[in-house]
Amino acid sequence: MDIVCSQQELHLFQIIGKVAAVTETECYLIGGFVRDKLLGRATKDADIVTTGDGIALAHAVADVLKPRPTVSFFKTFGTAHIRYRDFDIEFVGARKESYRTDSRKPDVTPGTLRDDQLRRDFTINALAISLNSNDFGKLTDPFNGIADMQECLIKTPLDPDITFSDDPLRMMRAIRFATQLNFKIIPETFEAIRRNAGRIKIISQERITDELNKIMAAKKPSVGLHLLYISGLLEYFFPQFVALAGAETREGRGHKDNFYHTLQVIDNLAEKSDNLWLRWAALLHDIGKPPSKRYEEGHGWTFHGHEVVGERMVPKIFKQLKLPQHDKMKYVGKLVGLHMRPTCLAKDEITDSAMRRLLFDAGEDLEDLMTLCESDITSKNEAKVKRYMANFELVRQRLIAVEEKDKIRNWQPPISGDDIMVMFNITPSREVGILKNCIRDAILDGIIPNNYEAALALLLEKAAELGLHKADA
Ligand code: ATP
Repeated sequence: MDIVCSQQELHLFQIIGKVAAVTETECYLIGGFVRDKLLGRATKDADIVTTGDGIALAHAVADVLKPRPTVSFFKTFGTAHIRYRDFDIEFVGARKESYRTDSRKPDVTPGTLRDDQLRRDFTINALAISLNSNDFGKLTDPFNGIADMQECLIKTPLDPDITFSDDPLRMMRAIRFATQLNFKIIPETFEAIRRNAGRIKIISQERITDELNKIMAAKKPSVGLHLLYISGLLEYFFPQFVALAGAETREGRGHKDNFYHTLQVIDNLAEKSDNLWLRWAALLHDIGKPPSKRYEEGHGWTFHGHEVVGERMVPKIFKQLKLPQHDKMKYVGKLVGLHMRPTCLAKDEITDSAMRRLLFDAGEDLEDLMTLCESDITSKNEAKVKRYMANFELVRQRLIAVEEKDKIRNWQPPISGDDIMVMFNITPSREVGILKNCIRDAILDGIIPNNYEAALALLLEKAAELGLHKADA
């Protein structure tokens, strides 16, 4: 396995080695940079560990670079960061960590390179490359990380029970690396995750969600989501997702396992889009199914209204997982709420009115909604899949045709709520909403044409029914 560095990286590493030599300290590239370079993955940052003071080394390196980069540092952690051109470098003093059972925080003392490698989470993350002039470029691999890399294995360097109990976030990281790198977690390490899953409760939700999002952004998110489920971790921070699992049978009638269906939908979507929030919509599209599940005698299982229930669950789940509120949450909720609509259109006879409603409700997110719905087709029956896809194509074409004709996507009704308040000299009230919706519905349903005159005539008629009269009349 070889490492290929750019000229700029090489130049920078030589400078760092020379600067460290002046203070008679050693320094090494370590962790993710070494791992990713060996795997031929793109890297944008590097960690440097030194046997001296990390902050002092960062300042000394910055002094010889032109233009001099700013050094940001955290005295308490002994870490410093510089950004040189588009490359981020983190400096830290080598340290020895020891955990006590009565405290989550380890005791940290200065240590050797070996001590520092011992505190790393996985064998593939403990590799170091010397930047010192006597052995520049030499790899130190104390736990056979290279061999594990070649066999695509995630393995802790020490007893996995101790590794995970000391810092339970490492369980999420193991699963995240297995997903990103398409590696296998060795059975001994995975069993330890199972045994220690409950310890995840002491980790902040932000850090858990950070790892979860990295899993969601991977090429095949189902790998990690499945491991989270079978390890027992998922239950601790996302029970609503676990509730999708399982298939009940009554009177010989079953329903699909919605957890595994959802995993398939996410993977289908991940093949089409990198949009993290669209992937979240895929994860949550059926989240309302467990609470809306019913068994109808002689008919079978139903999940009526699960999209509405699901849309309502989105804000609570976003809050619980500390995902961003506002825009992203609204977008995901909207897609969850609308995810059955194109499917219904594909089944029913398509009316222009239904098309206009979908165009209006989905607005600028229509393409994403269609991508989600196509990903939702997970039947194993190829003929069925082909038929559904063809129906969706038909819906797409009709949507384009209706949009060209009626321009609904960014459409604003010809008379607004403000216009209505001025016209009838009324303050914001239920009546304003009734009149506004009445105009909107009539246009979307094709009852009146999309113009001011027709809207005004309808408005006056409806307002009179409500006992309202024009202010200037
Ligand atoms: P990525 O950049 O994709 O998140 P990374 O491995 O570079 O991957 P960082 O969080 O930047 O991840 O960590 C850098 C290195 O620090 C890791 O490679 C690992 O050696 C070590 N490390 C990070 N977090 C832990 C942890 N919780 N326990 C032990 N070692 C850790």
